[in-house]
Amino acid sequence: MTGDAGLVTDILGRPVRDLRISVTDRCNFRCTYCMPKEVFHRDFQYLARSALLDFDEIERVARSFARHGVTKLRLTGGEPLLRRGLEDLIARLAAIPGIDDLAMTTNGALLERKASGLAAAGLRRVTVSLDSLDDAVFMAMNDVGFPVRQVLDGIAAAVEAGLGPIKINMVVKRGVNDASVVDMARHFKGTGHTLRFIEYMDVGSTNGWRLDDVVTAASIVEVLDREFGLEPIEPSYTGEVATRWRYSDGTGEVGVIGSVTKPFCGDCTRARLSAEGMLYTCLFAADGTDLREVVRSSHDGRTVDEALDQRVHQVWSNRTDRYSETRSSVTDGLAAGLTIRPATRPVKVEMSHIGG
Ligand code: SAM
Ligand code: SF4
Ligand code: SF4
Repeated sequence: MTGDAGLVTDILGRPVRDLRISVTDRCNFRCTYCMPKEVFHRDFQYLARSALLDFDEIERVARSFARHGVTKLRLTGGEPLLRRGLEDLIARLAAIPGIDDLAMTTNGALLERKASGLAAAGLRRVTVSLDSLDDAVFMAMNDVGFPVRQVLDGIAAAVEAGLGPIKINMVVKRGVNDASVVDMARHFKGTGHTLRFIEYMDVGSTNGWRLDDVVTAASIVEVLDREFGLEPIEPSYTGEVATRWRYSDGTGEVGVIGSVTKPFCGDCTRARLSAEGMLYTCLFAADGTDLREVVRSSHDGRTVDEALDQRVHQVWSNRTDRYSETRSSVTDGLAAGLTIRPATRPVKVEMSHIGG
């Protein structure tokens, strides 16, 4: 522990509680809203192996964050299950003092095979992304022809391994899978799993995002309320991003993440670490801080951990991010048919790079 370790809050008084760790920038899907094939094609230059943080380095960074107040870690990507030996990393992260929740977000493609090993290594929970139960719709969205059945089998294997109840993430895009909202809700209602509908976001710069493609959280709630009857539930903790609703007949709950129309920056306690060790303090950041350089350098008179603690403290204590709140003025303009000038749309980091 060094002088720079210890609880830290940013300029807006927000502590750091969650660290999302991207373990790879590669993926076996090409979801059109995240890694469109036109950009992420055969010749796309992914990070070289030597550029990735190794497990010692990831653990070192995670320990520093735990010293600053982080209690929750989430592994993501790209597709995290593509990273070789991930179980070893999970075991190391699970052993860090102060970490009481270790989760993963995955597309579920490899989950059937890997669920029991992940649970044995110390993973607590998984969130599985699934955008439709209709094969034609799902295959068009993942754009690699991956069938729904295999994701459902992955979810079943995760439950069997003790990783349930599962959260299911569904990104809703107008005219693409909005017709699947009710079917998805009906399928997961009463299973104990929580389906979460996510507004299609303007993350990164490659997915051609338009406000017209967004199905708002309010309209999703309206559709579900009409079909099943919904009642609001209080958030389970400060900083929870999903608005929670329970089915009036007591058969479970759904979440709705309105990151475009209902900003939640005021409670945002998340830091994000990319696979090559860049620290981002906002999902919509254009710039990050290079922590790989800190862990791979020697520091005059200080240990690597001291240097790392100092950098983490410095970055978080100077954080001012509230992109979703400030974007509202831009999206209002878009809704009114105005064109956004390039200056208001900086090149943002891609979702596949920092993992959502
Ligand atoms: N590959 C894993 C997966 O899909 O679950 C983990 C990484 S993925 C980037 C994390 C989450 O971000 C997924 O649930 C995905 O649906 C969501 N996501 C990706 N692009 C998005 C976008 N433009 N808007 C909203 N959510 C998005
Ligand atoms: Fe891959 Fe996940 Fe992005 Fe889809 S959302 S392309 S599965 S990283
Ligand atoms: Fe947090 Fe940035 Fe999202 Fe606001 S826009 S909730 S600061 S990640």
